[in-house]
Amino acid sequence: MRELSCTLLQKAVTELCLSANQQIAPDIRAAIKTALEKETAPAARYALEQITENYACAEEDGLPICQDTGMAVIFADVGQEVHWTDGQFEAAIQAGVRDAYEKGYLRKSVVSDPLFDRKNTLDNCPAIIHTAIVPGDRAHLLVIAKGFGSENMSRIGMLTPSAGEAGVFDFIVETARLAGPNPCPPIIVGVGVGGDFEQAALLAKRATARPLSERHPDPRYAALEKRALDAINALGIGAAGYGGLTTALNVAINYAPTHIAGLPVAVNICCHASRHAETTL
Ligand code: SF4
Repeated sequence: MRELSCTLLQKAVTELCLSANQQIAPDIRAAIKTALEKETAPAARYALEQITENYACAEEDGLPICQDTGMAVIFADVGQEVHWTDGQFEAAIQAGVRDAYEKGYLRKSVVSDPLFDRKNTLDNCPAIIHTAIVPGDRAHLLVIAKGFGSENMSRIGMLTPSAGEAGVFDFIVETARLAGPNPCPPIIVGVGVGGDFEQAALLAKRATARPLSERHPDPRYAALEKRALDAINALGIGAAGYGGLTTALNVAINYAPTHIAGLPVAVNICCHASRHAETTL
């Protein structure tokens, strides 16, 4: 059994929330640069230049990349040999999020009752925590600061098996088409196929943080990712919805076993301010 401190966990979550909000991942920055180099539409070029400059300003001045600093989503893969000391696991994560949003002057974007009161909790908590118990004695943390301009454009479909690959492909591309300019393109499209209703959505959310250089290890899924990406870019929505060559930077699919009667597909859209950071304790 390996002891890990909740104080260390709290500090790690704070650092991850801050870095995710202030420093865009190098692969996304590079993909925007590539999009700019090949773009021919003047308005889209302007949007991509602004996005690039915004990334640089945020990093240099320690400012958030976007005014919507997101709802904090934490994927914690905790080794079963880990024993947490000096605190409580989930409370430490919430405290880490609270500290980051306070210290970094990040917008507090969470309301307690979603339907009637909609009163701001004033500390961006509670964060959403997904914990998995995995082999080993380490803890891997992935923090996603999820803006809701793009979250609101996400969809889930409970397809039936006869829909097949064509049905999944159509659902992915149609989701991007319906979203149009609303999720601040160029977007990153996370897709979850299989599982059940909620697992499909979780797979999709996690897929949005996959490095852009990685393709699905199964060549059939990798080909579907590429085909869906090309079809989304052929929609011509373009950067900021101004029209242009790059509507999406990536399509990443995760899948899981499902029921014989089902083919769930969830599409989680992330904007160009795709803020995520990870570490292992
Ligand atoms: S969708 Fe993304 S870039 Fe657009 S406002 Fe929300 S967080 Fe910002």
